[in-house]
Amino acid sequence: MSETIGHHINGEVTRFGGATAPVYEPATGQVRANVELASVDGVAKAVAAAKAAFPAWSSTPVTRRAKVMFNFKAIIEARIDEMAEVITREHGKTFDDAKGEIQRGLEVVDFACGIPQLLKGEYTEQIAKGMDAWTMRQALGVCAGITPFNFPAMVPMWMYPVAIAAGNTFVLKPSERDPSATLLAAKWLEEAGLPKGVFNVVQGDKTAVDALLNHPDVKAISFVGSTPIASYIYETAAKNGKRVQALGGAKNHMVVMPDADLDQAVDALMGAAYGSAGERCMAISVAVAVGNVADALIEKLSTRIKKLKVDNGLTPGAEMGPLVTKVHLDKVTGYVDAGVKEGAKLVVDGRNLKVAGCENGFFLGGCLFDNVKPNMSIYKEEIFGPVLSVMR
Ligand code: NAD
Repeated sequence: MSETIGHHINGEVTRFGGATAPVYEPATGQVRANVELASVDGVAKAVAAAKAAFPAWSSTPVTRRAKVMFNFKAIIEARIDEMAEVITREHGKTFDDAKGEIQRGLEVVDFACGIPQLLKGEYTEQIAKGMDAWTMRQALGVCAGITPFNFPAMVPMWMYPVAIAAGNTFVLKPSERDPSATLLAAKWLEEAGLPKGVFNVVQGDKTAVDALLNHPDVKAISFVGSTPIASYIYETAAKNGKRVQALGGAKNHMVVMPDADLDQAVDALMGAAYGSAGERCMAISVAVAVGNVADALIEKLSTRIKKLKVDNGLTPGAEMGPLVTKVHLDKVTGYVDAGVKEGAKLVVDGRNLKVAGCENGFFLGGCLFDNVKPNMSIYKEEIFGPVLSVMR
């Protein structure tokens, strides 16, 4: 029987015994564990814990709150490999890439260590006759974060370190596809001295998200994910009177000029298009070849793509791992099929790649299209896989 991944509420690993969803190890294609999907009641318990923790935490001296961040930083630095392995096993990205994302997240913890300075207010004397004015930065209460699968450690770390250091309490709803990294963070935050209930994790899907969006005690929502869901979150949270920031998807272009240093451009494109199997919001998915540069660019790119070392992300030397789930692999492969049907030229075909020892993994080799036109679905939509389109 596989493990059931639970929630982290008020300092305790909590399981309610409700519905679950499978969490895969993408390199092997095996179910690694099942994750509980919180109900409305489950989410209410997490919000209640965060609300109860708020009065004491928000009145804790800011220097003591900063000290927790310093301790948390030291713990993550010492155990970065442990968290990176969890990320690679659930997400599929290479081990080095997983460490890189934790490092980027840590930069926000570094920033939050400076919270005593960041929270300073301002004072204006005699703003009107006999009247002075102050501005103060104060905690709001319970804040919530809803995060995507592609950066299971970093994107949550864009949110909770600053929110918590500022005196808020927090409920995080990570992606149900790779839910374990944030449970490690929750444990380590408490080891760093964070009181129970200040940082809580609820696992779940749309039900849990809607419960957060509609809960009257949640004062602010941070979301990162795909654009349609970002719009929905923004609209619903704003309608419910909450502060909200919602970051969506992207279709990033790189313009390659005729006089570009092609080796440098190809190096940059290999990382930007195929790093993390293209599952990055800042992945370059379109190269716009200006003038007569396309033929030389495509020749150099194809040679490099064919040499990409696609493997289990835990294998030393792996340059690209699998996609996150079979459903996502089928979606990305469907885009490649559609590109061919719509008349783009598939110069490198990564479909049907088999990785020795990982025959059931969710692998797709690097794909390269030429002659992509603006009316094609591979141009218009975010593919979120290792597929680069060249437009002439
Ligand atoms: P997603 O939108 O499917 O999911 C994001 C979160 O929303 C998850 O926690 C998920 O459980 C929840 N969710 C999914 N469907 C929902 C629904 N119908 N109602 C309410 N909640 C729902 O995104 P994803 O596939 O996990 O992540 C990839 C996307 O995130 C890409 O589009 C990528 O570009 C984007 N992204 C953007 C940034 C950025 O900085 N702008 C950073 C990373 C990822």
